[in-house]
Amino acid sequence: MDITELKITLTDSLKPKPSDEGSLGFGKIFTDHMFIMEYSGGKWQNPRIQPYQRLLMDPSSSVFHYAQEVFEGLKAYRSSQGGVHLFRAKDNCVRFNRSAERMHMPVIDANFNYEVIRKLVDTERGWVPSSEGTSLYIRPTMIANDESLGVHAAKNYIYFIICSPSGAYYPEGLAPIRIKVEDKYVRTVRGGLGSAKTGGNYAASIKASEEAKLQGFTQVLWLDGEHLKYVEEVGAMNMMFVIGGKILTSDLRDSILPGITRDSVIRLARKKGISVEERRISIDEVMAAGETGELTEAFGTGTAAVVSPVRSMTYKGKTVEIGGGKIGKLTKEFYDLLTGIQRGTVKDEFGWITVV
Ligand SMILES: *Cc1c(COP(=O)(O)O)cnc(C)c1O
Repeated sequence: MDITELKITLTDSLKPKPSDEGSLGFGKIFTDHMFIMEYSGGKWQNPRIQPYQRLLMDPSSSVFHYAQEVFEGLKAYRSSQGGVHLFRAKDNCVRFNRSAERMHMPVIDANFNYEVIRKLVDTERGWVPSSEGTSLYIRPTMIANDESLGVHAAKNYIYFIICSPSGAYYPEGLAPIRIKVEDKYVRTVRGGLGSAKTGGNYAASIKASEEAKLQGFTQVLWLDGEHLKYVEEVGAMNMMFVIGGKILTSDLRDSILPGITRDSVIRLARKKGISVEERRISIDEVMAAGETGELTEAFGTGTAAVVSPVRSMTYKGKTVEIGGGKIGKLTKEFYDLLTGIQRGTVKDEFGWITVV
């Protein structure tokens, strides 16, 4: 499919843009236009940018019953020069197809998808906020849409992209969070869906997150589903530990989502000469390093927060404090580097930025 097939129909009633960027929150308001196309008869059809609108779907649609769906999450940033930047958008398009393959869904040519995202962001460029920490969040989503209840791979799909201006993830600055190491529920298992960005992984996580919140924690750290022994991810973030000056993070496997922020931090760290170990890390190793003080920093990485410093980890009733409640030195450096590259105030040596 070629980008010249894209049709654009603009709305004749633009929505008022929010006047206060400080109260945008996350994913609550949506822009004037969306992208959509349908898959039927074995191919993608009718790609178009159209006014943002509701989908009309049959109650029997397969996605409602069997959750065959995948999504992505990426951001457009207002650059320091006033332009619009996408960060590693092509990587999101490639990962989207890996998720689709795992869910037995049709793929979308990554170059075409990338061009579509650029075009949509260009159409909505007036919605990209400019205050520190804000961005235009972009949500590509594919859903199965057969109108029948049989359990099988659907033959009909819808792919759409919506955009939402989003506020600073931490309106009061980078606040280190308290984490509960989950020792009852699991997010995914070996051979499961963990490495695909699919809604079911989130459905599996909500109860544990809500229970943890009631106990005063911000996020849950997931252990592996087989032994409940190895550290995997935190919420929708990959997890990094600084132990003895080295960065430790779980190696990629089918229970880990291959985060683009994770990869960016690893590359920035190695470039700075910091050693990064990607391997299985047991929770006992982390807690022990916390007790001796060797664990100097811990942080999550993900598009939403970029990096999220961790101030404490609680496992089976035992808590280790990290960094005395303050954001760690490396954590802050990675945050500044990544947000600087995204905004164009730090040189983009890796070719991560697309100017829209
Ligand atoms: C999206 C996501 C991440 C982070 O990926 P990024 O590409 O860095 O945004 C990590 N874990 C899970 C489970 C996710 O869904």
